Amino acid sequence: MTPPPRPTERSEALFARAQAVTPGGVNSPVRAFNAVGGTPRFIRSGRGAWLTDVDGNEYVDLVCSWGALLLGHAHPEVQEAIAAAVARGTSYGTPTEPEVELAEEIVGRTPIERVRFVSSGTEATMSAIRLARGFTGRDVVVKFAGCYHGHVDSLLAAAGSGVATFAIPGTPGVPASSTELTIVLPYNDRAAVDEVFAAHGDRIACVITEAAPGNMGVVPPLPGFNAHLAETCAAHGALFISDEVMTGFRAGKLGQWGLDGAVEGWRPDLMTFGKVMGGGLPAAAFGGRADVMGHLAPEGPVYQAGTLSGNPVATTAGLATLRLATDEVYERISLVAETLGTAAGKALADAGVPHVVQATGTMFSVFFTGETVTDFAAASTQDTAAYAAFFHAMLDRGVHLPPSAYEAWFVSSAHDDAAVEAVLEALPYAAHAAAEV
Ligand code: PMP
Repeated sequence: MTPPPRPTERSEALFARAQAVTPGGVNSPVRAFNAVGGTPRFIRSGRGAWLTDVDGNEYVDLVCSWGALLLGHAHPEVQEAIAAAVARGTSYGTPTEPEVELAEEIVGRTPIERVRFVSSGTEATMSAIRLARGFTGRDVVVKFAGCYHGHVDSLLAAAGSGVATFAIPGTPGVPASSTELTIVLPYNDRAAVDEVFAAHGDRIACVITEAAPGNMGVVPPLPGFNAHLAETCAAHGALFISDEVMTGFRAGKLGQWGLDGAVEGWRPDLMTFGKVMGGGLPAAAFGGRADVMGHLAPEGPVYQAGTLSGNPVATTAGLATLRLATDEVYERISLVAETLGTAAGKALADAGVPHVVQATGTMFSVFFTGETVTDFAAASTQDTAAYAAFFHAMLDRGVHLPPSAYEAWFVSSAHDDAAVEAVLEALPYAAHAAAEV
C-alpha cells in the first residue's frame, strides 16, 4: 500500500536556496541524498527518537546525527546542562572546569592516560598522526581501505597498485606528496599488514584503523585482527592508533575497545573520539599513552592547538551525555538495534532481496549484497539502486535512514516501543520496493 504523499515543498524551497549559496546545498556531502536521489529533508526539530521537518512531517531517526546522539534528540537533562552552560557564557579562551571533568570521565572509561580536546573527528585523527610522526621520528602511515578518518589530506588516499606500495590521492586537491607517505591495505588482511611491515617496518610511524569500521557499513574486525595490529606495531616501534570517533561510547559503554582490547588484554597507543563525547555539539578528542601525549605542546615539541578546543558548552554537553550513559542505556540501545537488525533481515529475506546484517556491539548495518562483508571490496558489491528504493520507501513511511548504503544505522536510548513499531511496520513495504528494482 502506498502511503499518501508527504508534503516536501518547504524542504524543496530551502534546498533551492541552499544550492544557490552552498555547494550542493549542504555542509557535508552525504546529507545531499546524492547516493539515493531526491531532496534532503530540512529538519526543524528533534525530540527523542523523532525528527520533524520544515513541512511538518515526522520521522523515526535512524541516523542520530551520524551516531552522536546516544540519548536521542533534546534529552531534557542534557538540554538543561547546555542551557546552564550557555547562561554562564559560551567561550573564554582559558581552561575551564568542564574540560577537566570530561577528560577525567574519558580517561576513566578508556585505556588512554591523557587526552587533548579538539572540535572535530578530522582534527582528532590529523593531530594523532602528527603526534605519532613527531614521537617516532618516522613518516609513513598505514591505513585500511574503507576506513574513514575524516577529511585529512594524508588519509584521503586510495590504494596504490600492490599491497606494499604508497597511495594515490583519493580526491582532487590532495597533492600526491600528501599521500606518498600513506599505505592503504585491505581491511582484516593480516598477511598484508605483515608484508608491509616486512618491507617498510622501520619507516612506519603508525597504523590507524577504525576500531570497528562503520564507514563502509559495519564491518567487525575478525577475531584477533586489532590485537595483531597492536602487537605488530609494538614489535616494530610504530604506534597503533585506534579511531573510535564513531564507536567510542557507542558500540558499547567502553566503545569497541571494551569488546576486544579489554577482553584480550591489549591497548592502543593512541585513540581518537568524537560524536557521542560531544553530546551533539562540536567536540572530539585524541589521547593515549602518557609518554606519547607528553610530546604535545606546551609540554613537548609537537605543535597542536585550537581556539574553541574544549569549548565549555560542548564539553558540558559531552559530560552530561556520558554521565547519563549507564548500563541500562546500552542495554536499551542493544535491544533496539538487535530488534531492528533482525526485522530488516527478515523483511528483506521475505522479499527475496540479497542482504547481510552485520553488527558490532550496539552498532549495525544492512548490506544490500549476499556475501558476508569483511572488507571494502565486498562492501562495494552492494546493489545501491535497491538500497535507494528501500531508503525512499522508508522515508515515505516516516523512517529516516542514512542516505547511503555504506553507512551504519544508529539508534538511541530514546527509541521507545512506539518508534520501534513504526520502523517494523515500514520494513516489509521497503523490502518489496527494493525487490522491484
Ligand atoms: N573517524 C571516524 C571513524 C568517523 O566516523 C568520522 C566521521 N564520520 C571521523 C573520523 C571524522 O569526524 P568529523 O566528521 O567530526 O570530522
